[in-house]
Amino acid sequence: MGGFILAIDQGTTSSRAIVFDDGQRVAGVGQREFPQVFPRSGWVEHNPEEIWESVIWSARVALEQAGIDASELSGIGITNQRETVVVWDRESGRPIHNAIVWQDRRTADRCEELKRQGLEELFTGKTGLLLDPYFSGTKLAWLLDNVDGARARAERGELCFGTIDTFLIWRLTGGRSFATDATNASRTLMYDIAANGWDDELLSILNVPRAMLPEVFDCAADFGVTMREHLGAEVPILGVAGDQQAATIGQACFEPGMMKSTYGTGCFALLNTGSDMVRSKSRLLTTIAYRLDGETTYALEGSIFIAGAAVQWLRDGLKIIGAASEASALAQKADPTQHVYLVPAFTGLGAPHWDPDARAAIYGMTRGTGPAEFARAALEAVCFQTRDLLDAMRGDWANGARDTVLRVDGGMVVSDWTMQRLADILDAPVDRPTILETTALGAAWLAGHRAGVWPDRDGIASSWARDRRFEPQMDEETRAEKVAGWKDAVRRTLSAG
Ligand code: ADP
Repeated sequence: MGGFILAIDQGTTSSRAIVFDDGQRVAGVGQREFPQVFPRSGWVEHNPEEIWESVIWSARVALEQAGIDASELSGIGITNQRETVVVWDRESGRPIHNAIVWQDRRTADRCEELKRQGLEELFTGKTGLLLDPYFSGTKLAWLLDNVDGARARAERGELCFGTIDTFLIWRLTGGRSFATDATNASRTLMYDIAANGWDDELLSILNVPRAMLPEVFDCAADFGVTMREHLGAEVPILGVAGDQQAATIGQACFEPGMMKSTYGTGCFALLNTGSDMVRSKSRLLTTIAYRLDGETTYALEGSIFIAGAAVQWLRDGLKIIGAASEASALAQKADPTQHVYLVPAFTGLGAPHWDPDARAAIYGMTRGTGPAEFARAALEAVCFQTRDLLDAMRGDWANGARDTVLRVDGGMVVSDWTMQRLADILDAPVDRPTILETTALGAAWLAGHRAGVWPDRDGIASSWARDRRFEPQMDEETRAEKVAGWKDAVRRTLSAG
């Protein structure tokens, strides 16, 4: 067998599959979007069958494009949209309901209720997370409460719960493997990240039967073997990690203090804190970066819900640009004497504010304000929000995060203007790698490493290559003035209470 690895990247809006060769180069890609289901305001669902079909289709296309047979694969790595919940019948494999997606806010009231009962500290202490509808636990509880007969069936062991990785592993292996990895488990609100196991006390508060939970493995492990009928050969699944954790691995952030930030629809920054489980004083998340050979590496995570989505709003909402790629050229024309700020709280604010009721606002407009100032404000908002995360991380982990270089990836980072502004606002260097497929690469590395056909951690770290480093160039006075203006804008946007 050669060193070909298939990475399956199951995202929020599309599924992608990439075949990497033994030199970690992309040999074939398949990608397919699938429908988003919005049954009510604030609810977001996916049909698991559509996810499954898009994954298999993408994998076959990637193999075809690479010109290889599935029998030439040494293994499969899976990375996935995190927190999204699927419940299916153990016998038939059929989902009992659509998947409830991470963005879905339907359990906001349940989270509030748990907070009122004074339970947030308990959940945060064990899981490193907050009582926010973002995470899986309350979504799973909602399904058990609202689908007819679900709880009784779950108690009889007839139903399976999984994040998307688990659902795909189950399907690919024909129901022979019911498994997840530590990073996906760490996002469920039911997993103790210090003890590394499902937690009975949290399960009982959420009223979730333990019988429906998968077994939790390291990120590089034997997750089962695919049925021949799916890809044309039996292939071992050897690596699994949630998308942001896979990107952390793909960016080779293996040393404590290293940090990556992914700029897609939203922005997710992870700071490797090594074996230290750093507890945030500023409402960042403590999460599992990866678990390899039984050893857990932790991260501090900051999640921003709107990054590139603000650019989409310029395009689709305001219609002041025709394509996302036009945003930076327009921003460059903005009048430097106008201090216009956009706080993009379109779906509330994430870290470090966690204010689901805040709504977006724009400040500082004059008669001279036009599309260019809006474009600049949208792009700068991403930079300011990253700055807020970095400041919070520095406050939480003073020694480790001081001299951080930020490794960036995701759709927005092709914008040189935005990356330069990011370095300026952060007052820290920003490194853009040559390979921007870091999420898929991370999943592939886990599998390739497990299969013994890809280099070890040091090998992959030394093959990480920089496309460009952006050094801060802004003078301190301008930066301070801008950051102060941003903080003031956020303060005025936060909902009362
Ligand atoms: P996701 O994985 O969340 O779907 P991607 O990593 O594919 O996101 O990034 C897409 C996002 O990047 C979109 O929100 C888009 O607006 C933004 N984007 C793409 N190209 C540019 C660009 N040249 N400048 C600024 N933003 C961009």
